[in-house]
Amino acid sequence: MKNIRKISTREQMPTFATCVLMCAVRNALRPFLRRPAGFKALLQMPPGFKNESMLYYLAVTGLFDPEDLYDDLGAPRLFVARLDEISIVGSLSKVFEAHRTILLCHDLGELDADIKLITDFEVVLDTPKASHFLAAARTMGMKDMTRADAEFLASLNFGKVKMAVNGHRTLRSAIGRLRRATVAEREKAVAETKNKKPEKTLRDMSGYGDAATWGLRLAEDLAAWKNGRIEWEDVDRGAVLYGMPGTGKTTYGRLLAATCGIPIIEASSARWQAEGHLGDMLKAMRKCFELARKKAPCVLFIDEFDAFGDRNSDTAGDNADYKRQVINGLLECLDPPGGREGVVVVAATNFPDVIDPALLRPGRLERLIGIPLPDGAARISILRQHLRGLAAPSDMPHFEQMSAGLGGADLALVAREVRRTVRREGRELLETDLLNALPPTRSLSEDELRRVAIHEAGHALVTLVANPNDLVAVAISRRVPLDDRGSSLGHVEIRRSQSVIATEESLTARIDIHLAGIAAERVVFGHHSTSGGGALTADLRLATELATSIERLFGFGEHLVLDMGTGPGALETLRSRDPDLWQAVDKRLKASLGRTEQTLQARKADLMKLADALMEKGRISGADMQKILQPGRGGATHEARAMDASRRDADAVDMKWEVKR
Ligand code: ADP
Repeated sequence: MKNIRKISTREQMPTFATCVLMCAVRNALRPFLRRPAGFKALLQMPPGFKNESMLYYLAVTGLFDPEDLYDDLGAPRLFVARLDEISIVGSLSKVFEAHRTILLCHDLGELDADIKLITDFEVVLDTPKASHFLAAARTMGMKDMTRADAEFLASLNFGKVKMAVNGHRTLRSAIGRLRRATVAEREKAVAETKNKKPEKTLRDMSGYGDAATWGLRLAEDLAAWKNGRIEWEDVDRGAVLYGMPGTGKTTYGRLLAATCGIPIIEASSARWQAEGHLGDMLKAMRKCFELARKKAPCVLFIDEFDAFGDRNSDTAGDNADYKRQVINGLLECLDPPGGREGVVVVAATNFPDVIDPALLRPGRLERLIGIPLPDGAARISILRQHLRGLAAPSDMPHFEQMSAGLGGADLALVAREVRRTVRREGRELLETDLLNALPPTRSLSEDELRRVAIHEAGHALVTLVANPNDLVAVAISRRVPLDDRGSSLGHVEIRRSQSVIATEESLTARIDIHLAGIAAERVVFGHHSTSGGGALTADLRLATELATSIERLFGFGEHLVLDMGTGPGALETLRSRDPDLWQAVDKRLKASLGRTEQTLQARKADLMKLADALMEKGRISGADMQKILQPGRGGATHEARAMDASRRDADAVDMKWEVKR
């Protein structure tokens, strides 16, 4: 009895803020207060009132007469609880015994469904209105409160009103203080906006390649959609960016949002997972998409996208069920029944190969876009950006050459290092400062470089023979980090059709491309090096896995029986326990290598031409490769043809095979 009386506002004068909330709650509960049978109610406090649950508790309790809190036998007639403070499980008897039960919460959607079985109705409280402030002023005898005052107070953050309007000063003095504070805050915000550096957009950046082109086109489409000139159906729903670490994928989300002039919501699988077990993770994911829908138009950026994995991957193992449920949840969020108008989802990954293909279907994330390592001009431009106004030599030919293979993050580090040196020594920046700040590397010998160029030219030529429009670019590095044995010395970027249907022929053509690097080495040197093996992403491993899939997953081998294996390394396990399968896979690989060697032998002159050009230029686009092979034909026409073809093929995506050594 004593406890209840202590917080009863009838006995102690409530504060003005409590009284305002009492008026608001009384208004909302009015239809139920006179129910003879009592009630059990759930009250959701307004958003932005997270810190006011104690005040609401006092307000709700204060609505009732102290005499009415207990019945004649001393049993409680009222039970009020804050669900952010207590677990209702321990108080069930009080909930059931009390004539009236009022449970306060911040988000009805987050409550355990069982609570809603106990309660009779739910009330979503609004932010207190001017009329509640006027009613509270009348109750507390503040006769000088005008409607204008009440409207002003209702427009403010409630926490500020709580602090300013207190028993120690008059209403006029409190309102004066609040008005002055509001003006000062507004002036501060204006000054901050003025001093704020303009946000960078994709237009200010270098090195983003196709991702920049896509982002700029999206910004145009979004503007047209906002103006009602095009339908949402005509706007891209999203993309998955892939590239090596430090190529600016995470930064891209913010740049894209700034370019489109819309907000960004940043998320990642790890952040959702941190919420707890599967159910909590899915809840966090759905909440994030829900928030994005509320904020639309906006960019929802999902980092570390590969963490979701592929439901069909051979590494799904014991986790397969968890993975399936998470990806199914994600698919629902990406493609909800009511659509997701105004929400562009951009994801980023270092490992595009492990993404579930269903996530890339039209209407979901639609396309993979590669962010390449920056070329020479882009490297200089990124470096200048990170030098932040520090004057650099106008020409830096040695740095341009020696920095090949560095990404944006490496260049940011170089810039930071030289800014420090120049500041410490108080002098101008020289190119040698930049060279000294580069990570230690060694140049490849002429022989090593030739072998790398021939290997990559082999991949490129076989791709060109199979489908000239598929080759995006090929590149090699002249230098390798001193302390890194597994670095990539070259790569080929291939635009691969995301057609949902593959045939034995199309899969075999992909094996040929995987093996074309070592085939080229065998044609030129008579043997191949270690370049095709020794790593999970090596050419031979990718070809072996594909050949195993052809035999056992798709029924193109001698048997039609499907055997997908289970657990990590499922295909490898299949091979090791089935000598016939091992033989069949080896036979396919040898046939592919023989066929590819023949193709390259017949085009050896072209192979050497491409390798020479690569040694000279370092990186060559697919269109330029075609010009090298057919010098008589216009390059621009080829390029245009390649672009047209890729536009025509709505499912076209970019894939890149890193060649590790
Ligand atoms: P990723 O997500 O690909 O690992 P980040 O977006 O985290 O890369 O980039 C790391 C840092 O590298 C960024 O803060 C930025 O300073 C720098 N950076 C990367 N790419 C670029 C670029 N194209 N232009 C300017 N800075 C870049």
